[in-house]
Amino acid sequence: MRFANKTAVVTGAATGIGAATALAFGAEGARVVLADINQAALDERVAEIQADGGEAIAVKADVSQPSQIQRMVSAAVEAFGGIDCLVASAGIQTYGSVVSTDEDTWDRTLAINAKGVFLAAKYCIPQMAKGGGGAIVNVASVQGLFSQPNVAAYSASKGAVIAMTRTMALDHAADKIRANSLCPGSVDTPMLRDSAQLFSPTDPGGAIKDWGGLHALGRVAQPAEMAQVALFLCSDAASFITGAAIVADGGLTIRI
Ligand code: NAD
Repeated sequence: MRFANKTAVVTGAATGIGAATALAFGAEGARVVLADINQAALDERVAEIQADGGEAIAVKADVSQPSQIQRMVSAAVEAFGGIDCLVASAGIQTYGSVVSTDEDTWDRTLAINAKGVFLAAKYCIPQMAKGGGGAIVNVASVQGLFSQPNVAAYSASKGAVIAMTRTMALDHAADKIRANSLCPGSVDTPMLRDSAQLFSPTDPGGAIKDWGGLHALGRVAQPAEMAQVALFLCSDAASFITGAAIVADGGLTIRI
């Protein structure tokens, strides 16, 4: 049990990578605080962790709202006494060039994907420092490092996460807090399925298969594979890794 007696906060924990990460933390002995806007799915995830013998609570929170993030942190401290790990996975995918992206889409994308990561860290870090240290994983994307057409706001938000994570790592190393960003390729989650439905309404499964073919490994990832990377980065095995952008993309970005 790598995370026995540790408390992990996971945002975006209702579905996808966040849900898989919350379940993996629970299976490894952590007390888990699951935050999301999707209360029904959150409750299901909490029940799954508890059925497996783990400890978990759900907090309905919109990561773009400071008061809701503060409530999430207070709930974690009240239930479990502190915070050791944070995985910030909440996010949305939006499409458009700088010309076709309207300002509302830009603001919403940055508010959830970048400000949401800022707020989670802003209010979790003091609790981690109080407890003697901790580890943060901010879920970014390969799209924060490289690009594709029509992801102006999304790629900007993910680039912001990668850059902010580096400064977080510098600012809080003295507090014994490590911070890394995780840059997945394509992962089979509701977000990816929604994109497949958008681009290929008649054959979304075929689109996901085609996208898988762009990865050297010939497939998209499963959420549990990203969860294992996030847990490694939060664990003592990653004690000398901080400020890094860890690419876990099945070889999507290695081709020229
Ligand atoms: P997902 O849609 O399954 O999960 C995202 C979760 O975030 C959902 O449960 C959703 O309810 C929650 N969420 C959305 N807005 C929120 C808000 N304002 N406050 C709180 N929660 C909110 O998608 P996913 O693929 O698991 O995405 C998780 C992270 O991984 C995202 O940051 C995404 O950008 C990133 N990512 C995903 C992929 C992929 O291919 N799926 C690739 C690279 C990066």
